[in-house]
Amino acid sequence: MNIRLGKLLGIPISIDVSWFIIFALIVFTLANYYFPQVNPSITPAMSWLGGIIAALLLFSSVLAHELMHSVVAKRNGIAIGGITLFIFGGVSRMKDEPRTPQSELKMALAGPATSFVLALVFWLIAFYGGKARLGVLGYEIAAYLGIINLVLGIFNMIPGFPLDGGRVLRAILWSAMDNLDRATRIASGVGQGVAYLFIFGGFWMMLLGGFLSGLWLVFIGWFLNNAAQQSYQQLALRRALSGINVHRVMTVDFPHVSPAASVDQFVHDYLLQYNYSAYPVTEDDNLLGIITVNEVRDIPRSEWKETPVRQIVKPVDEEIIIDENDDAFDALMHMAEDGNNRLLVMHDGKIKGMVTQDSIIRLAQLKLSGLY
Ligand SMILES: [Zn+2]
Repeated sequence: MNIRLGKLLGIPISIDVSWFIIFALIVFTLANYYFPQVNPSITPAMSWLGGIIAALLLFSSVLAHELMHSVVAKRNGIAIGGITLFIFGGVSRMKDEPRTPQSELKMALAGPATSFVLALVFWLIAFYGGKARLGVLGYEIAAYLGIINLVLGIFNMIPGFPLDGGRVLRAILWSAMDNLDRATRIASGVGQGVAYLFIFGGFWMMLLGGFLSGLWLVFIGWFLNNAAQQSYQQLALRRALSGINVHRVMTVDFPHVSPAASVDQFVHDYLLQYNYSAYPVTEDDNLLGIITVNEVRDIPRSEWKETPVRQIVKPVDEEIIIDENDDAFDALMHMAEDGNNRLLVMHDGKIKGMVTQDSIIRLAQLKLSGLY
């Protein structure tokens, strides 16, 4: 679940609910362990205040890292869907893949470069500000952010795709081999290798007594492994579907309801006949809206026969509409993002058909196996 925060430099920023878990965990760790340990003169109340300020600055640093990826991506012609902060950090959602190894390299390096610059800035603040001017707490916060930004920069440069370092590796391989598929396969393979190292190292750490840190490493490894697999599959899908628009995968033969039909007819001829959850209501190919079982529930059964569908039709959500000339891959991403498994295909205000997740994936499988 995502909470939208607003836009920064034209890029939508949102927070996943899992972010709150890591935020609370970081504040707790800083307040109870980190600050009391680095400087015992910091009182518990000040430790909590410092924990909250440092955690907020840490997430601003992660946001700055992602924002720079997105800004450089946009400048290189790659559309960005937005930035989401979640339990493992931040992610910039690219709407398409970089077109050249050079643009991928610039985009990938922009994030870690930002983290390294931030590390330097916080370190300079701590060094030149000193405890006298910044106060003990201010000094420790600046020092902590200097270290953590350095760690973030280094962690992201680990050469496993889809980490930034993996993207750098892919760009280099891509440029050397002139083959994006192979470069992605190798970089994802290295990414999975790195992920297994994290999982293995994490279990090892748990055995040696560092239970929580070890568990955390295992989780990161598990997440990286999934991400590496997914990004490779996504690329394969994108490749298989390149140049195919929605028009070619849609079905024109789908049930649509006349506004003049009664609710009773809708229930018996549609709801009980087909396996759909929502039905478009159309009149001469014009889409009036959709009707679902929810609208029917509001009408008492005794009134079903005399109530026309027109009376309970619901306006259509923009989310479930796609143009027939749009890319089939975009349609798929669109469905994945909003959790729908079918979209209505429209063109020039007229309804043209319906497209389902299954039909697009089936076509991609045929193409990937060379049968189509
Ligand atoms: Zn990054």
